[in-house]
Amino acid sequence: MNISFLGACGEVTGSCTLVEASGIKFLVDCGMFQGLNSYEKNLENFSFNPKEIDFVFLTHAHLDHSGRLPILYKEGFRGKVFSTKPTKDLAEIILKDSARIFEKDFKTPLFDFNDISNIMNSFETFDYYKKNQAGNIFFRALDAGHILGSSIFEFFIEGKKIVFSGDLGNDNAPIVRDTDLIDSADVVVVESTYGGKVHADRKEGVAELAKNIEEVIQKKSVLLIPSFSIERTQELLFEINNLIESKKVPFINVFLDSPLAIKATSIYRKYEDFFDKESITLINSGDDIFDFDGFKEAKDTKKVLDSSSPKIIMAGSGMCSGGRIPFYIKIYGKNKDNIILLNSYQAEGTMGRRIEAHEDIFINNKKVQIKAKVEKILSFSSHADSIKLKNWVSKANPSQVFINHGEKEESLALKRELNIKKVTLPVLAEKYLI
Ligand SMILES: [Zn+2]
Repeated sequence: MNISFLGACGEVTGSCTLVEASGIKFLVDCGMFQGLNSYEKNLENFSFNPKEIDFVFLTHAHLDHSGRLPILYKEGFRGKVFSTKPTKDLAEIILKDSARIFEKDFKTPLFDFNDISNIMNSFETFDYYKKNQAGNIFFRALDAGHILGSSIFEFFIEGKKIVFSGDLGNDNAPIVRDTDLIDSADVVVVESTYGGKVHADRKEGVAELAKNIEEVIQKKSVLLIPSFSIERTQELLFEINNLIESKKVPFINVFLDSPLAIKATSIYRKYEDFFDKESITLINSGDDIFDFDGFKEAKDTKKVLDSSSPKIIMAGSGMCSGGRIPFYIKIYGKNKDNIILLNSYQAEGTMGRRIEAHEDIFINNKKVQIKAKVEKILSFSSHADSIKLKNWVSKANPSQVFINHGEKEESLALKRELNIKKVTLPVLAEKYLI
């Protein structure tokens, strides 16, 4: 059996792995490249013939794992895409959001709504923990605890068990369940986004959040929270809901101005049976974990602007490089009493990275000087840290490991931690015999 890594080699985007075994060819993920020069990379032809691909197994909905699926269909793929139900629903809104951006910003869109509708018709959903068959191979999915519906895949092929981690979640996340452990494997493919880093405790992050809310209430100012639409927004709503309802912070108006996050939250509500105990206990006690006094889904940006301060405004994107948050930063970033609360890693080249470094930013080619206070919470990551990655791989005790989906130094750091002889950092498009 052969395995080739066609993305996410030495980087965290473009996840796509090809497996050729038992007379079939399948992909695990078919993600979009993001960041510098990514448009050109996404335009390049696949290094395989899409018509020959029998199946795609989608670990989760994030664009860097699902984003080239419509192109795959356009190029001739007619097989099935296997995923959980939440992954299917979330992938659809993420792909449509992406197509809307292409329509607005690009002369040659990578795909359109018709391509999305075609690939969505190719989906077949499964339940966690059940053994399923695809052609002549068997597979089983477990909960990766990364975002709602995220999967770890176990494949049973030619007498071997091959495991793909997908993106693994962080511990103690309030909505998704804890990551399932694998009890044995021959080969493990593991992500390494934070292969060399240890996350701060989540409780510290919640305390930071409360402190910033109290500060804007006291100053009658504005707290801007740039947030990713899927998972991060819902987790922040969960935490703010708890802080307000347990009266740890006083009443404050909270606006969510992100059409994608609003749609994603309604998908989260649809799949409460995927939530972990912490959330289910609250829901059973009668609480709506995504709603509280003062919370409004913004239908009209003008109303958000006109409402009096103090207030919290949450909007995408998490790295301030898209969505509606730049609009609010342009207005509220000039006032020293306001706070911009970054709550995720800010990649190089993003507006968030410049804000983090206290540099001027440019919105619609106009220089904006940030005078607002810039705060950071790093414990809300939805990725496993190096300790968790090491423990997770060690529990499976495989004879061979491939480390992908991480910048090179993160992958190397994880390699050094693992007490396993055969560990490979795959080279893009090289074929490995397993
Ligand atoms: Zn992800």
